[in-house]
Amino acid sequence: MEQDLAKAVREQNLELHFQPIVSVASHKPAVFEALTRWRRNGVENVSPALFIPIAEDLGLIREIGEWTLKEACRQCKSWHPETSVAVNVSAVQFQVGSITEVVQHALEETGLEPHRLEIEITETAVLNDMDHAILVLEKISELGVRISLDDFGTGYSSLSYLHKLPLDKLKIDKSFIDDLVNSERSRTLLKGITAMGKALDLKLVVEGIEDQSQFDLLKDHYNVDFMQGYFFSKALPASAAKEFSDSFYLSSNENSSGDDYLIANDRVA
Ligand code: C2E
Ligand code: MG
Ligand code: MG
Repeated sequence: MEQDLAKAVREQNLELHFQPIVSVASHKPAVFEALTRWRRNGVENVSPALFIPIAEDLGLIREIGEWTLKEACRQCKSWHPETSVAVNVSAVQFQVGSITEVVQHALEETGLEPHRLEIEITETAVLNDMDHAILVLEKISELGVRISLDDFGTGYSSLSYLHKLPLDKLKIDKSFIDDLVNSERSRTLLKGITAMGKALDLKLVVEGIEDQSQFDLLKDHYNVDFMQGYFFSKALPASAAKEFSDSFYLSSNENSSGDDYLIANDRVA
């Protein structure tokens, strides 16, 4: 697998797919999260949860990271100007140096406006060396790029970093949603997390919404700004993501009724 991955990176055989993140206020896909896809030997889909750590061990993550940032910005440039793109940056990318320059370079080369780019980091990326993380994130934030904390609530959840880092968004992990419909304790816990996030003036994204009952509950009873999950759409190839975005922003029928957060399969041919 290591050899195949090195080859795929060398031959630029990775692909970016984009998962819509829907705005609760506008009912439109406001952000698309770039997720790297590797079809090993052209067939087998290897999960990035598996190959990203391998890429980190092999020292390939820098190259993948640079490519991902540039490709994500390039694609976003072709979408409606109200949309943004979110790119995952792992702990190792944070440590191997010049992530700020890589971000700046991707923006310059593609001409994407900085406010249309978001960087997703996890707490493991920042916890090892908090002082370094603060410095780096402040520089990225000064460029006008937004910063999201991904998978919030998993891992060590040392809350002290929440007020130290220049964060714009919290992405609340899917594990808080899984039992929401059946468990009152889950609902209480999520209430607490959303109240805390809002009190810190952060935008809130809920990840991993898979069905109507979860969606209804969140929409009616929780103060969240964005939702993401298979209920709306899986990650789509670039052309389908553009088609999906255009179907909301370029449609002549702008009279959104309130329950028109439609699922990608209905909109993309
Ligand atoms: P993540 O950043 O938390 O991304 C969300 C993951 O949850 C994605 O899996 C997405 O497909 C999946 N997901 C979204 N909605 C649902 C849902 O409703 N139900 C379920 N069961 N899953 C859902 P994916 O694409 O396999 O990515 C896994 C992880 O790999 C990502 O987690 C991210 O940490 C990492 N990753 C992906 N692409 C990149 C990349 O280009 N660079 C880096 N550094 N990490 C990446
Ligand atoms: Mg992410
Ligand atoms: Mg996540």
